[in-house]
Amino acid sequence: MGNTLELIKTEIRDLLPYKIDETCCPIKLDANENPYPLPDELREKVNKALSEVLLNRYPDPDARELKGLISHWLSVPEEFLMLGNGSDELIQAILIATSWGSPTVVVPSPTFSMYKITGLAVGHRVLEIPLDKSFDIDPAAVIDACGRERAKVVFLSTPNNPTGNRFSDDKVLEVVKGSHALVVVDEAYGDFSGKTLVPYLKENMNLIILKTLSKIGMAGLRLGIMAANPDLINELDKVRLPYNINSLSQAVAAVLLNNMDAINGQIDAIIPERERVYRALRDLDGVTPYPSEANFILFKVRDADDLHKRLVEKGILIRNLNRPGRLENCMRVTVGTPEENGALLGAMAKLLINA
Ligand code: PMP
Repeated sequence: MGNTLELIKTEIRDLLPYKIDETCCPIKLDANENPYPLPDELREKVNKALSEVLLNRYPDPDARELKGLISHWLSVPEEFLMLGNGSDELIQAILIATSWGSPTVVVPSPTFSMYKITGLAVGHRVLEIPLDKSFDIDPAAVIDACGRERAKVVFLSTPNNPTGNRFSDDKVLEVVKGSHALVVVDEAYGDFSGKTLVPYLKENMNLIILKTLSKIGMAGLRLGIMAANPDLINELDKVRLPYNINSLSQAVAAVLLNNMDAINGQIDAIIPERERVYRALRDLDGVTPYPSEANFILFKVRDADDLHKRLVEKGILIRNLNRPGRLENCMRVTVGTPEENGALLGAMAKLLINA
């Protein structure tokens, strides 16, 4: 057994896996999903589209219909697009394509952990640049690290997971223009900030933008979107596995993209709830929430492990991020429906008074 496992590369054996909390709770606010199910009329359209899928045939390898709809939705020409089985797959494709020589990837800290996990798995050295007191980036420090380490890729999640803040366009563009690395601007939560760097794609060859349908209501579909200059897309597309977007996802996503009003209505309901939850958390004794432009809020408490355990006992699951350093006693809660948010705030108020 020992010998067999030695066939696996050390970097992978040393990795801590990406942990997904599978605790079952009626109120699930841990994974930054959209809390609203599909409206009934859309569900009917989805069922019809699914019934027409030819499951004995491979999917369209280039997902042309879907790309056309996404091109229209994002105002990006089709040749600027590559689709992935979730944006996780696109992060992996970028890291595989750049894992030559002695590759280094630069990431802020704290940020979305899959950049580091996948980077290490495919052979990158990972350089973490701490965010400042307000969880903002220091563009000069990032540019300096890229130059010194000859980094091939930088990941900037903006709004950043798990801190929720969006880095300013000026700071991100300073990194794009000041470094030779590919700068991946991950806008997984961009729909909740209403802002995007998509208009800057054409003039910046090293800029890659990632988006996903996961946070706005379609996490089960697994559809991630990469936008970048066509020459770069052509190279990255060579890493993509054939037929990576299955027929069922292609069919359902097409229906949803043709009916974005329903989804936009849900996003418009989540944003004011985020502000309400932020204010209510701020009013709780011993709770410090951080401002968010995403669909979740990071907050600090006195004892995150204890609060997490007690919330689970009450059937409410949020993400416990407690670890030494900047996230000590920090928790992340996804903005849910008004009822779910009310239940969370009510439970927290009681638990913190009795703590
Ligand atoms: N980027 C960020 C910043 C995320 O938080 C997530 C999901 N946790 C992803 C990418 C991956 O999203 P998906 O693979 O569902 O598109």
